[in-house]
Amino acid sequence: MHAHPYPIALVSQVLSPATVVLARPDASITTLAFDTRKLVEPAKALFFALQGNRDGHAFLADAYRAGVRNFVVLTGVVSSDAYPEANLLFVSDTLRALQDLAAYHRSQFDIPVIGVTGSNGKTIVKEWLYQLLSPRYRIHRSPKSYNSQLGVALSLWQMDSRHTLAIIEAGISQPGEMASLNRMIRPTLGVLTGIGPAHDAGFASREEKIREKWLLFYGAERVIHSPAHIDGADVASTNHFTWGVDHAADLTIIDRREIGEGATEIRAQYKGQPMAITIPFTDTASMDNAITCWAVMLALGYEGEEIAQGMRGLAPVGMRLELKRGVGNCTVIDDSYSNDMASLVIALDFLKQQNQHEKRSVILSDFPGILTDDTAFYQGLAALLAESGIDRLVTVGPDLASHGGLFKFLNHHAFPDTEALIASLPALAFRDETVLIKGARRYRFERLSRLLTEKLHDTVLEVNLQALEANLKAYKAQLPTHVKLMAMVKAFSYGSGSFEIANILQFNQLDYLTVAYLDEGVQLRRAGISLPIVVMSPDIYAFESLLRHRLEPEIFSFPVLESFVAYLEEREVAAFPIHVKFDTGMHRLGFAPEDAPKLVDYLVSAPQVRVASVFSHLAAAGDSAHDDFTRMQIRSFQQAADTMEAGLPYPFLRHIANTAAIERWPAAYFDMVRLGIGLYGIGRSMASLSQVGTMKTTISQIRRVPAGESVGYGRQALLETDRTIATVKVGYADGYDRRFGNGVGRMVVRGHEVPTVGNICMDMCMLDITGVDAVEGDEVIVFGDVDAMAELIGTIPYEILAGISQRVKRVYYYE
Ligand SMILES: *Cc1c(COP(=O)(O)O)cnc(C)c1O
Repeated sequence: MHAHPYPIALVSQVLSPATVVLARPDASITTLAFDTRKLVEPAKALFFALQGNRDGHAFLADAYRAGVRNFVVLTGVVSSDAYPEANLLFVSDTLRALQDLAAYHRSQFDIPVIGVTGSNGKTIVKEWLYQLLSPRYRIHRSPKSYNSQLGVALSLWQMDSRHTLAIIEAGISQPGEMASLNRMIRPTLGVLTGIGPAHDAGFASREEKIREKWLLFYGAERVIHSPAHIDGADVASTNHFTWGVDHAADLTIIDRREIGEGATEIRAQYKGQPMAITIPFTDTASMDNAITCWAVMLALGYEGEEIAQGMRGLAPVGMRLELKRGVGNCTVIDDSYSNDMASLVIALDFLKQQNQHEKRSVILSDFPGILTDDTAFYQGLAALLAESGIDRLVTVGPDLASHGGLFKFLNHHAFPDTEALIASLPALAFRDETVLIKGARRYRFERLSRLLTEKLHDTVLEVNLQALEANLKAYKAQLPTHVKLMAMVKAFSYGSGSFEIANILQFNQLDYLTVAYLDEGVQLRRAGISLPIVVMSPDIYAFESLLRHRLEPEIFSFPVLESFVAYLEEREVAAFPIHVKFDTGMHRLGFAPEDAPKLVDYLVSAPQVRVASVFSHLAAAGDSAHDDFTRMQIRSFQQAADTMEAGLPYPFLRHIANTAAIERWPAAYFDMVRLGIGLYGIGRSMASLSQVGTMKTTISQIRRVPAGESVGYGRQALLETDRTIATVKVGYADGYDRRFGNGVGRMVVRGHEVPTVGNICMDMCMLDITGVDAVEGDEVIVFGDVDAMAELIGTIPYEILAGISQRVKRVYYYE
């Protein structure tokens, strides 16, 4: 957004493509595009056909239809005849071309560029540096955590002539990646944040990982780091600025001390002089990140008082965009901690993904750091909003109000400040719509968000939608491209949600969704989900509802098939899609494989239905002890499906693989796989998955209980010594199994793992927090790792997830 317009001739010169076809030699470019679902100002976009999980070349026609006229494509894959009005640049590597253009753009600016890398804390350090340095500089920083080969290029593209400093985050997952990030970023100042003790999956050793990260700093004037983080790794010597407890460090840390009210004082020595900062955090990671920022400020020439003042005001990084249930049957997307063009683009994308309401509104504050008369900026903003399909725009602040003329195409309400908007909330009457709240910190939109959202019970399941998307991509990467993907969203998506999950899956172009019961499918349709949906246990009394909502039944027996066909015949419906299930050894539901010929006979004379797929289910795909059995199931399925294929006059899909089979049985992929628990990041072995759900609650009360007393029902826990006991708001009615009582279950309070004490009650339970410096109201992590938890009580993660009660509110977020 809002980069300089680049004439296509200049782009062509920078990329030096092998071949160029310029149908419109006078075109100019302002935006970079690679995803047809996220096009902004298509006429001024340059579309790169990238080769990720899906080949971008498959979407060229879509992009062309949407108005894109400038393309960077692979040589030999595309014919220019198909796009008569387009400029086509043919290259040998499209990602590399995108990076070349970003690198060229970066090279146009002679300002300090801070490159941040490390395994922990890089996003926090980037955001804190932004908070700390903003009073002096006009800063461009990477949006959210855009730090990959693609993310860095897009981040750099957004630098423009207004900026006086840039902070760019760099992340890598395997050797060889950092050199290309360095080539683009060309940092003048390097910052290394914490490096975890483990080496990431992609690296042979920790030292290799450190050396690779260090490549970011090639050519930098100075590198800020703590020698403790590099652990003696042999890194190229540059002009360092170090911090640590060692007296040889430039910034020597002498003491860190909690001083109450959640604050820590850190004392140090710099150039022989004592210095101190106070930060409003007490955890070690925050201290390390703050010290890293401190060192950066010193290296930039800041002095004691200005540093101390900034540090006192450090705010938690509210990077999360949260999806909440709103009042008036609204859905609220809460992104009330920052406002800049880059993060607005991301939030609007997320808004676009939501299908549950037709109407979409945006509440937007003025943009800090943008001059009132920056017409180009406001025109860009208006264009962006026009592309976003919103119905209503509510703005807060004088600058957006003064450009009201640009937003005339929208239903626009302007308010001078947040108070005025709050006073008018009843008149704005938000109902049955999706509302994006997007405001800079100083507008304190969190007050608005409180007024527009439902109050939550204190126990919540936080659902990380970005992790879900990443898990999905990890599985897609595992599959050959012709294999389709069905996501199992039964049982409220394994406890994680309904349309909130389905919207993400639909946006990511899955092929099918599957639910267990009709009502789950109806709920998805009501929320605007248009993907094909399979219902596994159709109710023969509810066929009407199946038809009305275009839900496709699983058919597992002749009686079910006959009654469905009879129903369709009466309604004069033809070729309704059904999914035929064979029982190959699970012995739950399904036709016997030997019934396949009889089934074919029936189906060829039943035009009312059409077999969309034939499938079966594996009983023990994850267990090597049963591999012979699994092989037998796959064979038996193959034979039944072959019989069907030979007999039916039309094609259909075949599928048998669940998550475990995706990981272990490529021979079972057939035409489609059914991804279940792995999507939620649980229960499987793939290293790259992350768990999607985290359950959290709060401490209601803390008390000292002397030795000899007991805790809870039945006096199960007799205390041998004096203990500190915390009561938390989660019990077996929330899905916290009673078997977790008496020390079996463990929760996390202020970073410490603590055991339960006594029996679990219905709505509460007690924890032994002796020695942990906690206060009432503190957050408690009920579970992080569901696999480990399930093992403690001898069950499977599926049961823990599906057992989380509906009264535990789900909070969705996107990082
Ligand atoms: C639940 C289910 C799946 C998914 O199983 P996971 O082990 O969660 O991957 C696949 N197929 C059928 C028929 C199912 O019922």
